[in-house]
Amino acid sequence: MIIPIRTLGDPVLKTPSKPVTAFDASLRTLVGDMLETMYAAPGVGLAAPQVGLSQRLFVFDDGQTGPLFMANPELFDAEGEQIEEEGCLSIPGPYHPTSRSGKVSCRGQDLDGGPFEIIGEGLLARILQHETDHLEGTLFIDRLDASGRREVLAELRRIELGLAEPRSGRRGADA
Ligand SMILES: [Zn+2]
Repeated sequence: MIIPIRTLGDPVLKTPSKPVTAFDASLRTLVGDMLETMYAAPGVGLAAPQVGLSQRLFVFDDGQTGPLFMANPELFDAEGEQIEEEGCLSIPGPYHPTSRSGKVSCRGQDLDGGPFEIIGEGLLARILQHETDHLEGTLFIDRLDASGRREVLAELRRIELGLAEPRSGRRGADA
């Protein structure tokens, strides 16, 4: 089932999420629905707050590692820097160059509650950072300087008014 994606202005996107404690059948159903929603968007990652749930979990697929799930993530061993265009399914349309660590490790729990760890570089590292940010109530525009933020919001406004075409759906950025 495709779940409506919450967009900028919805308070759930600015609310820090609570740890996942129940690894049960309803979690499996939720994760299946979130993956369906992410692929339909299309996107490369989707965090629970984006579907209205303040829970520390996300799904992702950088196109190489396959559909994956992570609960209660912690980032560590970040190194290097990458500046690439980034977008967000909750801010549909605009992209902006955004600075992220070039490589990062992430540890958390899988669908059964067991330990799960992954090392990401490039796009995968960007996804892990973007999604973990969502669980803290942080959006990619919060990572930009004031002028970058203004540019994204102005483009979003132009898209909403029908004065610009959304750039969503382009491979590799929305999460
Ligand atoms: Zn996002």
